[in-house]
Amino acid sequence: MSLSASEEEDALAERKMRFLFALRSKGVTDARVLTAMERVDRGHFIKGLFADRTYEDMPLPIACGQTISQPSVVGLMTQALHILPRDTVLEVGTGSGYQAAIVAQLARRVYTVDRHRRLVREANEVFLRLNLSNITAFVADGSFGLPDQGPFDKILVTAAAEDPPGPLLAQLKIGGIMVVPVGQSDAVQTLIKVTRLEKGYDYEELRPVRFVPLLEGLGLD
Ligand code: SAH
Repeated sequence: MSLSASEEEDALAERKMRFLFALRSKGVTDARVLTAMERVDRGHFIKGLFADRTYEDMPLPIACGQTISQPSVVGLMTQALHILPRDTVLEVGTGSGYQAAIVAQLARRVYTVDRHRRLVREANEVFLRLNLSNITAFVADGSFGLPDQGPFDKILVTAAAEDPPGPLLAQLKIGGIMVVPVGQSDAVQTLIKVTRLEKGYDYEELRPVRFVPLLEGLGLD
């Protein structure tokens, strides 16, 4: 027996409620971040086989052998950036575009780059469909940042580097924050919060994480 329209609506509302509850229980407590995550439906960024796992707090496969991050990690990274309404944010690693769409609810302007053309093209299609006109997505090796668009108030890297890339540190404004997973690709990585001071940088370790590696150059597709 299939569900009626109102039963389906109830089921969706309940899944969303459980999704938000899971975020809170994993430490995503910033009200603005929770509202942003309630507003942007992760379902737009997941296709095919895994669509029924959309509201579970787990990473899922996307095209080009990449992954859409676990929602609680998206929330914790966004929260750590303390995004202000006038901020310009750079994201390295567009992937599905989900993280960029969350950040776009909180910031004035979001630049996001990925080394895979296909991911940038598909993410752009979703941004257009959702009317997220404050996001600009580029195909680029994000290790070098976007010198023409910087410096940035906030930078987030959603692929693991051995060290925070120098060009990204240089493109952070004074007082700006960068969140970046650091470590070898398959070993334990640590999420690091870097704050640019008047002189030098402050580094804080946030938590262990697991991301795909930050690779050099552009992808083949
Ligand atoms: N933020 C994404 C998840 C990203 S997965 C989301 O919300 O779905 C990590 C992404 O980083 C992958 O898409 C990968 O192609 C990209 N990536 C890896 N190295 C990169 C580099 N040097 N420059 C730009 N993107 C890179």
